[in-house]
Amino acid sequence: MAAILIQNALIVTLDDAQPILPNGQILIEGERITAVGASVTAPKDAQVLDVNGMVVMPGLINAHHHLYSSFARGFSAPGAPAANFIEILDRLWWKLDLALDPEGVRYSSLVALIEAIRTGCTTIVDHHASPACTDGSLDILEDTFREAGLSGCLCYETSDRNVKGDGVAENARFIRKTRKGDGQVTALFGLHAQMTLSDETLAETAAICQDTGAGVHVHVAEDLADEEDSLAKHGARIIQRLNAFGLTGPNSLFIHGIHLDETEMDLIAETGTMMVHNPESNMNNAVGTQKMLTLLQKGILLGLGTDGMTSHMISSARVAHLLQRATLGDPRVAFVEACEMLLENNAKIAARCFPEIRGQLAVGQLADLAVFDYRPTTPLEPGRFLGHLLYGLNYARVHTTIARGRILMRDSTLLSLDEQEICAKARECARATWGRIQ
Ligand SMILES: [Zn+2]
Repeated sequence: MAAILIQNALIVTLDDAQPILPNGQILIEGERITAVGASVTAPKDAQVLDVNGMVVMPGLINAHHHLYSSFARGFSAPGAPAANFIEILDRLWWKLDLALDPEGVRYSSLVALIEAIRTGCTTIVDHHASPACTDGSLDILEDTFREAGLSGCLCYETSDRNVKGDGVAENARFIRKTRKGDGQVTALFGLHAQMTLSDETLAETAAICQDTGAGVHVHVAEDLADEEDSLAKHGARIIQRLNAFGLTGPNSLFIHGIHLDETEMDLIAETGTMMVHNPESNMNNAVGTQKMLTLLQKGILLGLGTDGMTSHMISSARVAHLLQRATLGDPRVAFVEACEMLLENNAKIAARCFPEIRGQLAVGQLADLAVFDYRPTTPLEPGRFLGHLLYGLNYARVHTTIARGRILMRDSTLLSLDEQEICAKARECARATWGRIQ
């Protein structure tokens, strides 16, 4: 792969040493950034990308996604509208995931990856479910990530809701497979949520996690029903139950946590467990508002995801900020925190999920970046970038996306994937999937 020289760029490095470079250059060699500055020395045969003053920033990271949910767009579940979260699972998600076949897994993934590339997202932590074709489904996803050119940390949603222990073997196999891999695709052990998991399945999970060193990726306390179920069936709150199986810790990723009590938050903080906030999904499911600021104050590494609602990460940060203000009735809070969760905390989460560091435009980092077709209308200087992020770049078109040193999109045209063909095939596939739902 020839070197790439990006020039004439307004560079937002997110590196404290030189946060903004108004007319800078970036040199990419192989999968890494090898120089950033006002003027860098490039090999003679380097491919030059003159970005004409556009904004270049690190590729965004999505800390919780469900690529398979792409086929929910435009779909109406049969029967009366779901009136609560359990009915949403029962009438929509558990019907849709069961209807997926291997082709559906492939195309629902590819269209979400296209949207990620189109919105400047280059790394995704995914949580997958397709119970009619569990075995091998993570290999299908791995292929789509490699074709698209993005980095993915994958897992299968283990649950006892259809067949006891469904997904255990798939997670174990895939974790061991990716341990020997190149780091582009890695794995966690996926669990749905404690309310669909027996003690036997959690014990089996714990044994595999202990053997492989993998953490779990699990929904916790998304709805009050999950806490009530844990207390009624197991006499313990969710985090205490998971902790008793040894499933907390710095490699584990807990999602949502809306109904956690103080003791559970403290346990998450003490064990160094990571968490992810998905504000748009929580609003859509009407499950409540995460105590995002409290979790951060307790020192929990809290990142941002989209939970399958979208692949647009700046939108998630913007909604996180607005939702906290609306909920708390305080116009002073959550702006900086929401941006830091996206730009800093997601990079720290990625550093625990992948071998390579990413999240800054700095020497030695993975060459993941997005060029936004955005001309600032007010000064874009150190200390002023976050306003541009949530109120300017949020609406801007991404012109070019580069991941792992490969140009995936240029002038808004996908290079790594045949977008037209994939979208046509996905529409056929979605219709066939919907046809299998009663
Ligand atoms: Zn989720």
